[in-house]
Amino acid sequence: MSDCIFCKIIDGDIPSEKVYEDDKIYVFKDIAPKTPVHLLMIPKKHIASLAEVKDDDQELLGYMMRKVPQIAHEAGCEKGFRTVINTGDEGGQEVYHIHIHILGGGGKMPFA
Ligand code: ADP
Repeated sequence: MSDCIFCKIIDGDIPSEKVYEDDKIYVFKDIAPKTPVHLLMIPKKHIASLAEVKDDDQELLGYMMRKVPQIAHEAGCEKGFRTVINTGDEGGQEVYHIHIHILGGGGKMPFA
């Protein structure tokens, strides 16, 4: 999607602090971290939100969930972390490219 900021981050057109990348996903530091560790995991495929997920996306979403604890652990969240997916207007979603917030590292835990 040409006007999607997270697609532009994947393409390198907008800078980001990458922490992990493979052929399916991209993980980077949130620009306004709410906790000492605040990462965003996004699929390289543009999916607008959890509400837009199709049957064909199930494997990709399962893959993302499998990678979350590995990446959280590598980022220093050995004692636990919170995952948040905001969906739609009333779900507090600001960027319409599905993303999993990974929050941790100590301190007060927000909902993101
Ligand atoms: P909310 O802002 O309510 O958490 P989202 O769930 O859509 O809404 O989250 C979007 C997240 O993307 C925010 O935490 C925001 O700080 C982050 N963000 C926006 N632009 C960038 C960027 N260029 N680089 C890194 N993170 C970004």
